[in-house]
Parts: sequence; structure tokens; C-alpha cells
Amino acid sequence: MIKIPYIFRGSVAGLIENDVITIPENSILEIELMKFLISKAKELYTCKRPPGPAGALLVPLHARDYILASATAPPGSRTCFEIGCEIENGHCVRTNHAEMIAIAIAAQQGIPTYGATMYSILKPCYQCAKLIAEAGIFRIYFAGKAYDEQRTKDVLSFGSVEITKLEVGLDYGN
Ligand SMILES: [Zn+2]
Ligand SMILES: [Zn+2]
Repeated sequence: MIKIPYIFRGSVAGLIENDVITIPENSILEIELMKFLISKAKELYTCKRPPGPAGALLVPLHARDYILASATAPPGSRTCFEIGCEIENGHCVRTNHAEMIAIAIAAQQGIPTYGATMYSILKPCYQCAKLIAEAGIFRIYFAGKAYDEQRTKDVLSFGSVEITKLEVGLDYGN
């Protein structure tokens, strides 16, 4: 059994430290991390709009703590559950995307993003992909294909960010 320390931000809870992800022996690390992320995002997500709970797990190259984030409203702001969604062009724009929050928490906590791996439940959107490339993240694993645009593929490939789908039987966004 491997125990990995991580920090996470939930809208209600704020920043939580000193929690661990437990990985069973003889399992595939990438799959277990994605499954953990999905279960945690279901708990933390604050918007009911489809495709479903979004979350990201940032695995720094050297730092001890992993960073987990679910898509949620900025700190102190009220969530979609409390005041309803904020719809623009058919999308709810109240939340920061999980990938953005994970990168912001890394900045806040002084954890380098260069060379990191990002687990994202949904294939990153164009805006997040640009930020991921800018943060020097090397690799993305995703489980569901919500956003699938050529410009996103291009920005990741120009930024030398590898992107791989993990098969975890995700029941939304595929
Ligand atoms: Zn919403
Ligand atoms: Zn995004």
C-alpha cells in the first residue's frame, strides 16, 4: 500500500492539508489516481450542469504534496448550489475550472508546476490547455472527452504537452 499526501480545495472546506490518497498494492497508479480524483470530485463539485463533476489532480515533479481541485466558485464566493448557475452561451461560468484552480493553488503554495503531470477528469478546454502549456506541465491524463477541439490539440502539441486517455469506465463526458 502506498500513501500519497495531498492538499485540496473544496468550496465549503477551503484548503485542506494532511490528507492521504491510498493506493492498493499491485494496482496501476495512474488508474487509481484517476478513480480517486473522480470520487473526490463527486463530493466537492458545486455545479449541477452536465457533463458532471470535473476535477484535476496536479502531481508535481518533485514536491511532496499532490494538489486536488474540483471546479468551483472562487474563494468566498457563493456557489451554484446556493444561488444558481451563471449561464453564458449555454455554459455555467461561475466556477473556475479545476485545472486552473490546481495551478493557482500550486502558485499560492509555492509548488512548481514545471514538469508536473495533470490528471483531469475531462479533457481540458481550450482556456485550460493554454494555461497548462504555460505552466510547463509535461503530461495530461484524462478520462472523459467533454471538450474536443482541434485548437486545444494544437496548443498542447505546440507546448509539448503529452495527452493520454485513461479507461476507467467513466459514465459521463465520453
Ligand atoms: Zn453552475
Ligand atoms: Zn477548462
